[in-house]
Amino acid sequence: MRKIQMVDLQGQYQDIKERVDASIMEVINSAAFINGPEVHAFQKELEDYLNVKHVIPCANGTDALQIAMMGLDLEQGDEVITADFTFAATVEVIALLKLTPVLVDVDPVNFNIDLEALENAITPKTKAIVPVHLFGQVVNMEAIMEIAEKHNLYVIEDTAQGIGADYTYKDGSKKKAGTIGHVGATSFFPSKNLGCYGDGGAIFTNDDKLAHTIRGIVNHGMYTRYYHDVVGVNSRLDSIQAAVLRAKLPKLDDYNKGRQDAARKYTAAFADSDKIITPFICENCDCHVFHQYTLRLKDVDRDALVQHLNEKGIPCGVYYPVPLHSQKAYADSRYNEADFKITNQLVKEVISLPMHTELDDEQIDFITNTILNFINN
Ligand SMILES: *Cc1c(COP(=O)(O)O)cnc(C)c1O
Repeated sequence: MRKIQMVDLQGQYQDIKERVDASIMEVINSAAFINGPEVHAFQKELEDYLNVKHVIPCANGTDALQIAMMGLDLEQGDEVITADFTFAATVEVIALLKLTPVLVDVDPVNFNIDLEALENAITPKTKAIVPVHLFGQVVNMEAIMEIAEKHNLYVIEDTAQGIGADYTYKDGSKKKAGTIGHVGATSFFPSKNLGCYGDGGAIFTNDDKLAHTIRGIVNHGMYTRYYHDVVGVNSRLDSIQAAVLRAKLPKLDDYNKGRQDAARKYTAAFADSDKIITPFICENCDCHVFHQYTLRLKDVDRDALVQHLNEKGIPCGVYYPVPLHSQKAYADSRYNEADFKITNQLVKEVISLPMHTELDDEQIDFITNTILNFINN
């Protein structure tokens, strides 16, 4: 059996090596390292893939979130609601911009922001919501947009883990994750579903005016060269990274299918265990692209299981071990532990298994058998 990787970037590279190597060499030979033709071509191709009017590439996913918020007319002290159970980048940028983060609990079934908790957290100071498509599971965006409209709030989608996922509306129509809110932000960190070979990110919007504002912000607030109209940042996607992403984008749907297949196999293997809750899988829809395949363990010593898996050569991860509201940087006396029942429970129960497009059946069997043997002993 091949060595099991949490994320198999080498295996994926072998398949696209020729194109990637050639296009990286082309960038080097042309010396168009910044804002070269590869970046513009990737931008257009991603706009087509997502069916969104504007893609603005930038340096990483955290920047993408920050710049998206900088582009909206938010002021110091405005409240921005997001999920307690997510990667810290989501809340970090809210705090960094001197906006007030308001963390709320999540849903135990899909791990995404709890809609009732979200509505209860809205005050006259609330200006925006940041739904996070956690682990690749799209948030119920129709409900989010209804709440946003009712309370006149901006919606900034954090789709760092959800690129390529489809959201299906009640009427059957579909949109890509990240293109439903007023603005979306994603990451091309190597281990994301669409990853480059370094850092990268992008912002999506269908709003022409917002796109124009954001294009200036990513480039030092310039709309005319050396005229700085707003305070901006320097956040660019390198041409070499764009070249890698152009090779991978046509394969994204296949990559996501590969992840969904692996997820189904895991879920089938665990179906009879009463100590494992498998992640929610929607049949006949692509609303989950399995950035992570995350189990909830019931009456299992997680630390011992993690150690056992490591001894057997099976990597795994705990995303995330501490709720954001309990992190030193984001703790706030306003928070009441009773309001974070689900997150407080999830951080103790979750474990994420190896998930990538190169997992074969032998590896999946070995992983699931090792877990079941440990749990049943
Ligand atoms: C990875 C990630 C980010 C940040 O992306 P970077 O490119 O690493 O800055 C933001 N939000 C979520 C949910 C992520 O998983």
